[in-house]
Order: sequence, then structure tokens, then C-alpha cells
Amino acid sequence: MKISEKIYDFVVFDRGIKIIIASLLRSPLLLKNPVYNFYYDRLLRIKMEKFKDKPFRVMIENTNFCNADCVFCPHRIMKRKIGIMEMKLFKKIIDQCKVIGIDYVTIYGFGEPFLDKYFFERLKYAKKAGIFRITTNTNGMYLTKEKVSKLLNIGIDEVFISFDATSEEVYKQIRPGLDFKTVENNILYLVNEKKRRRMLKPEISLSFVEFDKNRQETGKYIKKWGKIVDHISFSYIHNWTGAVESGGKLRVGRRDPCRLLWTDMVISWNGGIPLCCNDYENKIILGNIKNSSIKKIWGGEKLRQLRDFHKKKDFNRIAICKNCEYNYHQKSPWWVAK
Ligand code: SF4
Repeated sequence: MKISEKIYDFVVFDRGIKIIIASLLRSPLLLKNPVYNFYYDRLLRIKMEKFKDKPFRVMIENTNFCNADCVFCPHRIMKRKIGIMEMKLFKKIIDQCKVIGIDYVTIYGFGEPFLDKYFFERLKYAKKAGIFRITTNTNGMYLTKEKVSKLLNIGIDEVFISFDATSEEVYKQIRPGLDFKTVENNILYLVNEKKRRRMLKPEISLSFVEFDKNRQETGKYIKKWGKIVDHISFSYIHNWTGAVESGGKLRVGRRDPCRLLWTDMVISWNGGIPLCCNDYENKIILGNIKNSSIKKIWGGEKLRQLRDFHKKKDFNRIAICKNCEYNYHQKSPWWVAK
């Protein structure tokens, strides 16, 4: 691993460092510093240019079915139709990714990916196509021995598991519908099986969504899992474009043009391309992959116009961006755009 990647991982995955950096990034002293702003604006221009023709990552929502009812997730109020992506459509997307040179694909959207019976078939297809980095996110309930074995046999680069408590009581309060012990055992089985097979991949990362209900468990959690998994990614609860009450702690400092509009393309199970991964209801559709292409939609007029609003910091022009907490400088700075 390169030294720059080690520094990146240290900053992104160490909770203490992340807190220090976030407080620095919302400090008026820094935000008003002309030298800092000069370099930051320059970075923005370089990155916007770099990603204008193709996204850094394509996130493919294989399904938006979910078995959980997490308290900070708007899945419980989502009105859009629930379904599973057709295999034909998935193949079309992967083929396009390959042709235009997209190295990073996530098979996951606004649901639990393992509820899709074609999940492993998709993984196999993407691997065979030679996609450089394939990841998924799961709540861990279905990581059974059989599925772990398939996952390791086919190969995946990184698995993110949402797991954010050290006690059953807290877990039950925040992720009703899931079972603490089952998920914990599944994670341990995955870790041990990977070790037993002496595999370097997948990287196993835990995602901890931090808020008032589980904050007191973070110390114990790091102690417990820090040496077992490859990474722990801490993030704060956010308001999902205004649909969920988050307490507003993220709404401090400056808002930037949202980097997701340049780096990440989301493709919903029905082929629709929503504005971003936080547009869980698919309110803004940039196009549909069934009758268009990644390249056309990414370079299309609709996205160009929306990016322009962001460049001018005219966030109110886009209904779902208006109250979003994602693009505050301390939450999602462009420094992390690779
Ligand atoms: S500001 Fe929020 S809603 Fe708008 S593109 Fe960014 S993440 Fe999506």
C-alpha cells in the first residue's frame, strides 16, 4: 500500500482524527483563509474536470427490498416501487462500465443486496468483465456460511457491514428487524473464514452510524472490533435531504458544490438514474439506462444544469438539495475525492 493511501485510510477511518479534521474544516478561521480557499478552489476545478466525462464510481441498486427498519433510514417512508434489477440490464451496465473504463462498481442501493437471488450471478459477471474494484454494503443478517463461501469463492474487493452497537439493547433500538447476535457471528465467521483461506480480500469494513443512542458505545466498539476487521468507518446520522430528523449537527460551516454530482453515479433497479445516493425516492431522474447510456447521461444537459446550480451555490434551486446535509464542507470535503 502506498504511503498516500495509508494517510488517506488513517484520516478517513480513525474516529479521533476524523473529529479533529471535521472541527478544523468548519472553523471560520480556515474557511476565511485566502490561501486555503485558493488551494481548495483549485482542487475543485481539477477534480470537476477529471470526473466530468465519467464518474469515479457506479453504484448499482440490485434491489431496494430491505429486511430491516433502521430508525435513521427513510426506507420506512419510501413510496417508490420495490423491485429487483433484471439481469439483462445489469449486464448492460457492467459492459458499459468496462468500455468507458469505470474501475469502481458497488452492487448495492437503497436496500439489502443479499435479498436479490441474482446477487452472486451479478458478482461473477462483474468479476469476469474485469471491473477493478467491486464492493457491496450489507446489514449482515444474510451473511450465512453458505453465502460467505460463495462470496469468497467468486471474490469481491470490499464488504461494508452496517453494525453500530456493542450491546444488544442499543442495537435493537436502532436496527429493529435485525438480530444482534446473528450479525455479530456472521461478521466473525466472514473474518475467520477469510483468515483460514489466507485471503487478502475482501477488505472487511464496519460502518457505524453515530448518534445520541449509540455514541456511548464507540470507545468499546473500537476496542472490540479495531483489531478484528480491516476498517471501521464512522459517520454521523444525516437528514436524507430533509426526510429524517438528524438533530442538525452537520449543518455548520460552509456548503460546497456537492462532489457526488461529479464522482458517483447511482443506477436504480429499474434503470432510472437519480441525482445521488441520498435521493432515495428518485425525485430527480437524470435519465434511464434502458434507453440511454452512462456516458450520455453523465455528459447530458440535465446534469450539467444541476451542476451549474451547485457551482453557483444556488442549492435552493434543487428541491432535494435545499435542505440536504451531505455537502457541508466538514462532512464531505473534496479532499477525499480520489
Ligand atoms: S446536496 Fe444532497 S441531495 Fe444534493 S446532490 Fe448532494 S447529496 Fe444529493
